Amino acid sequence: MAALTSRSAKGGVPDLVLLEEISEDAILSALKNRFANDAIYTYIGNVLVSVNPFKNIPIYTDAHIQNYSGKQMYESEPHIFALADEAYRNMRDRAQDQCIIITGESGAGKTEAAKLIMKFIAAVSGDSHAGSKIKDQLLKSNPVLEAFGNATTNRNFNSSRFGKYMDMEFDYKADPVGGLITNYLLEKSRVVKQVQGERNFHVFYYLLQGVDEGTLSSKFSLQKDPSKYFFLNQSATYVVDLVNDRELYKEMVSAMKVVGFKDADVDNCFKLVASILHLGNVEFVAQDDAHSTVTDSPALSAAASLLEVDKQTLIQALTFRTVTTREGNISTPLNARQAAATRDALAKAVYERLFVWVIAQINNFIRAPEKEARHVIGVLDIYGFEIFGRNGFEQFCINYCNEKLQQLFIELTLKSEQEEYLREGIDWVHIDYFNNAIICDLIENGQTGIIAMLDENSLLQNESDSDFHAKLKAKCKGHAHYQTNTIADTTFTLKHYAGDVTYDSVGFIEKNKDALFKDLSRLMYSSQQTMLKLMFPEGALADSELMKRPTTAATQFKRQVNELAQILLQKTPHYVRCIKSNDQKRGGLFVDELCLHQVRYLGLHENVRVRRAGYAFRQLYSRFLDRYKMLCPETWPLWESPEQKRQRTDAVKSGKTGILAVLEMQKAAFQSTDQAYQRKGVEKILSHLKLGQGEYLLGNTKLFVKQPTTLFALEDLREHR
Ligand code: ATP
Ligand code: MG
Repeated sequence: MAALTSRSAKGGVPDLVLLEEISEDAILSALKNRFANDAIYTYIGNVLVSVNPFKNIPIYTDAHIQNYSGKQMYESEPHIFALADEAYRNMRDRAQDQCIIITGESGAGKTEAAKLIMKFIAAVSGDSHAGSKIKDQLLKSNPVLEAFGNATTNRNFNSSRFGKYMDMEFDYKADPVGGLITNYLLEKSRVVKQVQGERNFHVFYYLLQGVDEGTLSSKFSLQKDPSKYFFLNQSATYVVDLVNDRELYKEMVSAMKVVGFKDADVDNCFKLVASILHLGNVEFVAQDDAHSTVTDSPALSAAASLLEVDKQTLIQALTFRTVTTREGNISTPLNARQAAATRDALAKAVYERLFVWVIAQINNFIRAPEKEARHVIGVLDIYGFEIFGRNGFEQFCINYCNEKLQQLFIELTLKSEQEEYLREGIDWVHIDYFNNAIICDLIENGQTGIIAMLDENSLLQNESDSDFHAKLKAKCKGHAHYQTNTIADTTFTLKHYAGDVTYDSVGFIEKNKDALFKDLSRLMYSSQQTMLKLMFPEGALADSELMKRPTTAATQFKRQVNELAQILLQKTPHYVRCIKSNDQKRGGLFVDELCLHQVRYLGLHENVRVRRAGYAFRQLYSRFLDRYKMLCPETWPLWESPEQKRQRTDAVKSGKTGILAVLEMQKAAFQSTDQAYQRKGVEKILSHLKLGQGEYLLGNTKLFVKQPTTLFALEDLREHR
């Protein structure tokens, strides 16, 4: 408890709600002060702000787990374990599903936070034999997912290139019984191209470095040297400090086994990974402007053999495209550029579907039987708001997702505030806040939203990004959150809740269509490898079926985001907002400008404001009494209920009047659950201190204090007593 109320706790307020002044600068300097004292966690009510220290602080030991287990959140220094414990206890004791929503920019510490939460929950939850097996599986799903879904980027050597939501499932005893993973928007463009200093997904390097040279060659026709492969050598970055590919290969394979993958499946996975590297080395020669041929090379043969498809059919699918017209099917040749793009599309599709398959397999292994799973704790580790020099389709999707999460946050925070006031019998307190529903609507409205317009254009033949841009301009003009730009005519600006973002519409249509030529899906469906074949079920469809409107990437994402919102809405939410302290990944360095930027985009200011709009501070009567009883002669030294008074008199009568006996009784009095008495004690303190009527409200179990300054005054009195 001391942690919450003392201003000097580890260099600043442990809860930003207690700031004397609320402004972005005040929030920043509070976080900075705490960071300087290695206090990387700070609350805003039930939200945990975490500032990545980029150094090991010894606060995640078993002793810390013990220390945070079973405590109220405000009893100790703010900590990710305290939040995890709160979620676990809520689930166990109140039988409510919980979710923990983690956001922040790349490198801010989201995935580490998610893993710490899992580690804590695994440590404090039941440990029957089955429970311990599933815990292992849940924890080991991380290295598998990271091998396939993470990559080294300029911002983070282990950057998650997909969004992840994971339910941990528990039985009626609150022992873990299973889990379920949902993934969002894998950055598949990375499979074929990486910018300077970045790498492809980890698994490619793990395979090359982890498997011995002989097996690499005999099983996968691969060489050890990554620079031999076009899909790896464009960025000329192969080796990364802190990523030991060889060790991580071993960890990945052993994790796959613990999770439940069979040897043959692991083998097939790596064959597909290898086939992608070979595909990347397939080259095309231009015959003329319209035609190209494939150079017959070992890469081509290896790709066909690992994919277990006929080489001639592969050549045909890469250099021709079948177009269905009213007159029937026509085979159109592809020029060298188009053929290379087709090859890339195939590589991306195989990788993406492999990733989805890996997750589906993990789910098969870890999912609990329906009758066993009573409650869940879901953890969402998802990309935060992104604003780059150039913002494309991916940023548009990611920022839309953040807009929805903000909407959810508003709904849930305000809802829980309202519920608390109601529970405590306090009159409705109006909370003024910016509702971003208007921006969500601008993006996702089924008829007039940007996604609907994008879809309309994507499904028309020959429509271009500029047609889409023109349509946006015409239809959204005048919307309060839309802005046309006169300088660059391909861009448009959305005024997001977190700030303005200018998007470049170039590439939107193609990325939204995300179409795989049917020749390619049919080719994959023709594979002798059942696992691959089943990844492309549309390859079995007739032309007439394929002609039906395919789902576009944006609409699919919108559907996923809305499903996610529904899932989260049914749970008790907890939030972790991660901040990256500096761009150099340097231990202990706090760069003001960078952090301020994130404070803004994470909406922390609004967060503190909403939380404070009603009552800044609330506390159970028992705890308030415990801390401030010394400020009033009537509650100090002894505050007791009639029952306790009777016990004391009895004790005196029977001669038990020693100081220890009195202290014992005093302790019992303050631990009394008799709320009426606790409340009376609190009232006595408040009236003794002559606190103004408007400064506080008495709820059913809690005292609500309007201004943090009131609390500080109490603290000062306490200190100087
Ligand atoms: P991305 O969006 O790119 O996936 P992220 O938010 O998931 O980024 P992490 O991978 O969790 O970021 O963290 C990046 C790195 O920061 C970690 O590899 C680790 O070195 C460091 N880090 C994160 N959290 C902590 C922590 N609590 N203590 C010490 N170091 C940390
Ligand atoms: Mg991550």
